[in-house]
Amino acid sequence: MRLSKMHLKTLREAPKEAVLEGHQLLIRANLIKQYAAGVYMFMPMGWRVTRKVEQIVREEMDRIGCQEIHMPHINPGELWKESGRWYAYGPELWRIQDRNERDFVLNPTCEEMFTDLARQEVSSYRELPFSFYHIQFKYRDEARPRYGLMRSREFIMKDSYSYDRDVEGMNKSYMEEWEAYERIFTRCGLDYRVIEADNGPIGGSASHEFCALSDVGESEVAYCPDCGMAATIERAECVDEAPAVEEMEPVTEVFTPGTKTIEDVCNYLDLPVEKSIKALMFVTYDNDLNPADYVAVFVRGDRQVNMIKLVNALNIPEHYIEFADEEEMGPVTGCVGGFTGPIGLKNCIKVVDSELVDTVNMCAGANKEDHHCTGVCYGRDYVGDIVVDVKRLEEGMPCPKCGTPVKHTRGIEVGQIFKLGTKYSESMKTYFKDENGNDCLYYMGCYGVGVTRTVQAIIEQSHDEKGIIWPMSVAPYHVIVTVINPADETQAAIASQIEAELEKHRVEVIVDDRDERPGVKFNDADLIGIPVRITVGKKAKDGIVEYKLRRESEMAEKTVEEAIQAAKDLFDAEVFGM
Ligand code: ATP
Ligand code: MG
Repeated sequence: MRLSKMHLKTLREAPKEAVLEGHQLLIRANLIKQYAAGVYMFMPMGWRVTRKVEQIVREEMDRIGCQEIHMPHINPGELWKESGRWYAYGPELWRIQDRNERDFVLNPTCEEMFTDLARQEVSSYRELPFSFYHIQFKYRDEARPRYGLMRSREFIMKDSYSYDRDVEGMNKSYMEEWEAYERIFTRCGLDYRVIEADNGPIGGSASHEFCALSDVGESEVAYCPDCGMAATIERAECVDEAPAVEEMEPVTEVFTPGTKTIEDVCNYLDLPVEKSIKALMFVTYDNDLNPADYVAVFVRGDRQVNMIKLVNALNIPEHYIEFADEEEMGPVTGCVGGFTGPIGLKNCIKVVDSELVDTVNMCAGANKEDHHCTGVCYGRDYVGDIVVDVKRLEEGMPCPKCGTPVKHTRGIEVGQIFKLGTKYSESMKTYFKDENGNDCLYYMGCYGVGVTRTVQAIIEQSHDEKGIIWPMSVAPYHVIVTVINPADETQAAIASQIEAELEKHRVEVIVDDRDERPGVKFNDADLIGIPVRITVGKKAKDGIVEYKLRRESEMAEKTVEEAIQAAKDLFDAEVFGM
């Protein structure tokens, strides 16, 4: 391919709204263009990379015997009402109506459709196990579509679904997908970790995220440097500190004027913050988004509430809860903003963090302006309606597996796998017949790869100040032949020779034969990140060219034959060797 005939408009500067380096480089290298918030055009080079990531995913799915199909992008709202997710999915779900006012959904994910597929197509245990996948655009009306392909409203996802007759079968399918994911992200050149994750609105019993490590990732990960435990902050379990053993004191109301925060009151009363109880008030909503319940959550003063653990404990979707207006709920529950405590609170669900169980002589709000209570003891003075671990696992807290202080890091969630169990087969009444003719529920798994997010994750992990550094496996082209003076016949002939010989070996080549200064050509080659650059210049007449890898700074002079051989060897090792 000749660059003079290609559309490539690289930019010196990225638009201001692109804050992540990966996003900036995607735009500057002319891989994508924004069309609307979170909606992108894929330009020639960008689409080539995307198709290569897709192809890696496809090969690894095929390898485990998962069968590719193609589902429509729109599907009937009825299916979503049947599973209950019409309500539970919330405003991210892109709902549309046809001319007859029938509800449809632009797929954000496809558990309903794939469950329905089994209902229509499969009837006997003899057909099990099986799995299907498709690679298609997905739609989510994200609240904050930003960061380029990391969080867009239209994006490509590979999703697959496995169907088994029992838990053991489901576990086996899950491990096969897990291993396929390890190969996918390794082949994409990513430095990633597999971490325990929350199931979120997809549901089910267990889940893991594949996270490309990156400071700009939106997944917060807690990990143990000792035993290797790794989990998303949402999911990470906490070890409760044992309550202090002390004689119970009586509850005493104390005057604490203007001490609305835990810090203020602990300073005022000269108490360690672990001896205080923090209260947070929420309101929940029902399916029609009418207020349902008030919820009061209590954790130790030095802990933070983990919202995912809270919604899981309440068994509601994430968007069915928000902070309550304490003035509004005051007359109903007895709470007083800044001075709320568990004693005497009424007409609300009390969620108490498990760490508070059996604590004694704590300080909590007195539900009275400018007053707190000391001597508050769990069991004697209050109990929780729900008692559960609702706190965040902070850095330095003990690892739930081995007790070593944990650390935090960040990552980009490029894939997630879920054990669904019978969640969808049950809600959508999907059965197969066993040997005795009994109706049995399927055990399902579902597995997603964010193809377009992976494209950007690769750039986030692999770039320098000059531009992108693509791994060979997904590079838009493997080799760029930069011709210093395309008008020079010898240079032009040697460039064509290199191009022809490499292409015979299936190496993808672009020849920069544009009438531009060499500096412009080198800058573009570095910006778009082609792994190998062969520069054909003055020494071409002696059969010598320059050979340089994008990921290295040294450049070597080689004969034309040596350069061709080096490029072929690299291609064999890094594209076919994997
Ligand atoms: P997130 O927590 O980042 O919103 P999710 O957990 O909701 O993602 P899944 O339902 O697990 O996403 O979707 C499978 C994969 O699709 C994700 O692992 C991610 O790589 C990708 N993905 C999800 N949402 C987006 C998006 N808005 N833009 C690009 N890729 C996305
Ligand atoms: Mg996910």
